[in-house]
Amino acid sequence: MVLGMISVDRWAEGSQVYFLTHLHADHTAGLSSRWKKGPLFCSSITAKLFSPKFPGFDLSLLRVLEIGQWYSLSLVSLWSGLETRVEVIAIDANHCPGAVMYLFRGDFGNMLYTGDFRWEVASKITEMGKNMLLSALNNHKVDTLYIDNTYCNPSYSFPSRDVAAQQVVNIINSYPEHDIIIGIDSLGKEELLLYISNTLKVKDKDQKECMQLMQIWVWPERLQTMHILGLHDNFTTKTTLTRIRAVPRYSFSIETLQGLNTMRPTIGIMPSGLPWALNKNKSSCGLPSMKTETIDLDTGNRYRNKVEKQHEYIYTVAYSDHSCFTDIVDFVKFICPTHMKGIVSSSSSYVDPCYHLRHIYGTSSLYGKYMAEEDRESGKGKCKSDERLKRKRIKQYHSSLHKSRVSLLRRFKCGVKLD
Ligand SMILES: [Zn+2]
Repeated sequence: MVLGMISVDRWAEGSQVYFLTHLHADHTAGLSSRWKKGPLFCSSITAKLFSPKFPGFDLSLLRVLEIGQWYSLSLVSLWSGLETRVEVIAIDANHCPGAVMYLFRGDFGNMLYTGDFRWEVASKITEMGKNMLLSALNNHKVDTLYIDNTYCNPSYSFPSRDVAAQQVVNIINSYPEHDIIIGIDSLGKEELLLYISNTLKVKDKDQKECMQLMQIWVWPERLQTMHILGLHDNFTTKTTLTRIRAVPRYSFSIETLQGLNTMRPTIGIMPSGLPWALNKNKSSCGLPSMKTETIDLDTGNRYRNKVEKQHEYIYTVAYSDHSCFTDIVDFVKFICPTHMKGIVSSSSSYVDPCYHLRHIYGTSSLYGKYMAEEDRESGKGKCKSDERLKRKRIKQYHSSLHKSRVSLLRRFKCGVKLD
């Protein structure tokens, strides 16, 4: 692609058009209400949620893309100075409300940017996405795939969100007298909350189930988001109406749960694919390292369908809006790109998706670079067998990826300038 034309989830100067995949904070870092750098493209749901997040934003710069429709943009090539046309289609990313992936096509070929996405093989949205991609690509290859590599490691295997949602309900049902706290972000996990609200039964004062809907408490800004999304019945800001509260993830901690338990018996549930309790110090979720009690609901696979009791008051359930490793493998096999790059990086580590997917994809840029460096190094001192040294360093490289699982998930940067 001609340098400097398009940026996705990246808000620095130097592009003619900007694309936003979804409104999670790690994708909007650098974007503000004072935005003037150029037109900003997003899905219609993201556009609806945009104003409360960026009050005063010049809405004349917002361009709404309907899912599944091709749009044609006229841009200027920085190399030739001539007009060039780029086409783009948005496809549901099955991540959070409004989240989309973008497929671009032009003189440069086809580029697919997934943003954060969940590729659940059995889900209807994934099936629709598959059909849209097949029809949009029309037998052409994706030349470059920018992929959500958040969980691109074989150790991450999650159940479907339907299964995980039922696990959350099972936990709540096993604590009928407790208050329940669920940690969520400012956007996402709506389907989980709706499932809980629609599945659980409210009991009247005689402890008999009644027809009343189980509402879930959310904080006022979150209720506003629910209303924008058209969800008017299942949520409330009145604590007296419900024993279930969805709270901001940052306020979900052992200390909070301990404090609440001095007043009322309370259980916390964190729905997330994030690994917990791997750090010696406090993790990003506010949980210090501790022994975990693992309850495997599917004994065939120790990672699947796993519910963990992290603390006497806290459960984690692998309800993830990101693709797990098997989802990613399935997606890459389906897309079969010529080149592939991960979109998630952190200051301390980065897992190149090509490393774990080289058997289906071919070469790995990071892994290849690493091996080239090692080859150079082993060529200098010939004291050990090259092969033995290489094997040892591959092992070190591999284990360093595992050790840094928590830090790699502190997502610092997700956007790219397509070039
Ligand atoms: Zn996200």
